[in-house]
Amino acid sequence: MTTIAERIKLLGTETAFAVSAEAAAHAAKGNKIYPFHLGDMNIPTLSSVIEATIKAMKEGKTGYCPTAGIPLLREKLAADINAARGTDYTLENISVQPGGKPVIGKFLLALMNPGDEVLYPSPGYPIYESQIEFNGGKAVSYSYIEGDKDFIMDLNSMKRKITPDTKILILNNLQNPTGTECSEEQLKVIAGIAIQHNLSVLSDEAYFDIRYEGKSKSITSIPGMKERTVILYTFSKKFAMAGWRLGAAIGPKEVIDVISKLNVNQESCSNHFIQYGAVAGLNAPSEETNKILSILKERRDAAHEILISIPGIRCYKPNATFYLYPNVTEAMRRINISDYNTFRREVLLNTGVSFCTRQHFGRKAQGENNFYVRIAYSGINMIDLKEGLEKFGDFITRSSKKHSPRKSRAVASAIN
Ligand code: PLP
Repeated sequence: MTTIAERIKLLGTETAFAVSAEAAAHAAKGNKIYPFHLGDMNIPTLSSVIEATIKAMKEGKTGYCPTAGIPLLREKLAADINAARGTDYTLENISVQPGGKPVIGKFLLALMNPGDEVLYPSPGYPIYESQIEFNGGKAVSYSYIEGDKDFIMDLNSMKRKITPDTKILILNNLQNPTGTECSEEQLKVIAGIAIQHNLSVLSDEAYFDIRYEGKSKSITSIPGMKERTVILYTFSKKFAMAGWRLGAAIGPKEVIDVISKLNVNQESCSNHFIQYGAVAGLNAPSEETNKILSILKERRDAAHEILISIPGIRCYKPNATFYLYPNVTEAMRRINISDYNTFRREVLLNTGVSFCTRQHFGRKAQGENNFYVRIAYSGINMIDLKEGLEKFGDFITRSSKKHSPRKSRAVASAIN
């Protein structure tokens, strides 16, 4: 009989994929689905990327390539990163990866010893928690506070949780799922914490370029931070290349060399010919990537407008990422549902709208008693987006009427 290794008990997963499976099962019965659950994109990859990739295949770039990636891509990426972040990386600071996700595990393997404590965001990308624990670390979460206009990273909770065993901080500015962006002042405070406690930092910058106004700032631009930080970079979002699987780890040469050694052990190298496509993406005029942003911005605005019109839902409009993170506590109360799974399933069965909830983004902190869902608008067209969210709103309104309507109206005027 096969016995699965003990360590696998520590491995978490991205439970959003289970939500996908439920949505697919519902669709298989002939129901229409409105997919708001996965951060995948239904926007085509830049044509310049596709053409350059095909050309590279035809030219025989089909064998192995250097384990850290082709020098042409690493040079171009260093220049691009430096221009946007004010850094001075060279190709030696870059290890190309099959996606941004592998950077998380490799960064931890390179820098975390068994028993080390790692600060990470919760709610946050669930792979942090999974990889910290799988690789023998102790996952210690910091949280976000729902403010008047947006979510704010709770720097006090971060500071309070530091102990002599804290060795690593994971930061996801422009955050999945809340869309939170740190101000420059907050980034400086975080940098101060990292320097004071000698922490290594993983700066997950997956959404650095998915912003609708203004300019993103990386913690690596703050003096003293580049030396202790590894950037998680991905081609998935900016170039609509999620399924191509290409990203990079960018950081101090000694750490990047270790990460490249892990590449040798795990996949030899990232896909060779796609790297030429990525170079074309980086060379593409910004109008091309701006087209992706303007599609996403229209969807954000439409989704936000509908969500805030639903009684019992409060929702901010983040300037970055392709997620909305509405507070649905009051809506759930009005329809007499008190747990996430029932709410998610009832909405799916009654409307076809599929989304993830707070539960899919790491363990809840103590005292966290509001309910949230994540609405990803990157993989759904405008017509379906509006139709789905309107059905969601109708469902909440209809079901509220069935449950103590007088009480509901009183709370509605208080919340809206
Ligand atoms: N980091 C965050 C916060 C993400 O949301 C994602 C994907 O959704 C990733 C990293 C990894 O992206 P990929 O592996 O597609 O580059």
